[in-house]
Amino acid sequence: MLVLVLNSGSSSLKYSVRRLDSGNPGTGGQEIARGAIERIGEDEVADHTVALELVAEELAGSLGNRQLGAVGHRVVHGGGRFTGPVLIDIEITRALELLNPLAPLHNPPAVLCIRAATRAWPNVPQVAVFDTSFHRTLPEHTWRYALPDGLYRRHGIRRYGFHGISVEYVGRRAAGLLGVPWANFDGVIAHLGNGASATAVRGGRSVDTSMGFTPLEGLMMGTRSGDVDPGVLVFLLRQGYSADELDNLLNRDSGLKAVAGHNDMRAITDAAAAGDEEAELALEMAAHRLARYIGGYHVACGGAKAVVLTGGIGENSAPFRAKVLGKLEPLGIRADPDANEAAGGTEEARSVSAPDSAIPVLVVPTDEQAAIAEATAAVVRAR
Ligand code: ADP
Repeated sequence: MLVLVLNSGSSSLKYSVRRLDSGNPGTGGQEIARGAIERIGEDEVADHTVALELVAEELAGSLGNRQLGAVGHRVVHGGGRFTGPVLIDIEITRALELLNPLAPLHNPPAVLCIRAATRAWPNVPQVAVFDTSFHRTLPEHTWRYALPDGLYRRHGIRRYGFHGISVEYVGRRAAGLLGVPWANFDGVIAHLGNGASATAVRGGRSVDTSMGFTPLEGLMMGTRSGDVDPGVLVFLLRQGYSADELDNLLNRDSGLKAVAGHNDMRAITDAAAAGDEEAELALEMAAHRLARYIGGYHVACGGAKAVVLTGGIGENSAPFRAKVLGKLEPLGIRADPDANEAAGGTEEARSVSAPDSAIPVLVVPTDEQAAIAEATAAVVRAR
């Protein structure tokens, strides 16, 4: 089956076409085409509807007379309703649209893509795969905010968690590497990209995660603040900040960018190595907070059997990993400096901890497109 995976960001649309055969289950299949439309919202590509039409044209050329068997859409926010991948129809599309306010940067483009893809390939089944659904197993004491119940009942204000597609994918790979069935896997998984989150997994289920109602809570990120005292927002509102200004402040002008001046981890570790104090402070803040979450989640998952790192930073930044692992020494975790430095640039999962480390630290490259393709094919086959 040929599966087209569509991943719409706020200003980009990435696609991947994969061939999934029954002969290679669980691998995400073989990629036969990929591409991206960037800078959506600027002159040439007005919106994600136009972007999808461009993707359809590219694919008409590259696929020739081979037919798509399914389209899988990554949808960031599934709200309280969507607890797993779902076959899309008109009602589902409307329900997704109702979730737009919960993820204003990410869900509206996905809804536009779903509608445009339904027009481009009217007879091809479409599936939505959610970043929130792996966290459906959060117990109530971790998904609740200590806020009045009415806010949850009226507005759905609770912790949802994100990055679930990636977390489950790398978690299953890590379990395989350790020779542990996924249903017995206890560990802490950190997805560290421009957005970053940590998740406590117990028995293959998410039991706590650092992102909450939106992908803003938790770790310090590229341009997002992560945790701040909500009193700061009340203070700024009283100073006359508007909702849009607060949104921009917290989502686009905070995090590594606010402290180091930009959000590229490679440039920040280079600058810190050259003695730049702001870059050093940004690293220290990000590493401290991540180590604190990992320590807390070691408890939350009942004693982690592994720490798993993924995402652009987790997979590639040896200096950042070294800094975080150094802070985990009180847990008995020991880095293997050579393995940490050597790792990088491959699809292989690998260990970066020393043989005498209390628990292994694994770097497992993520592949969200592969995971979405698998989930999409499974829904379509079960139809
Ligand atoms: P997104 O969340 O947008 O998918 P990625 O997972 O691609 O982001 O991660 C982006 C982050 O990874 C950036 O901070 C970038 O600097 C960092 N990164 C990517 N490659 C490297 C590398 N080779 N060394 C250090 N950091 C890297």
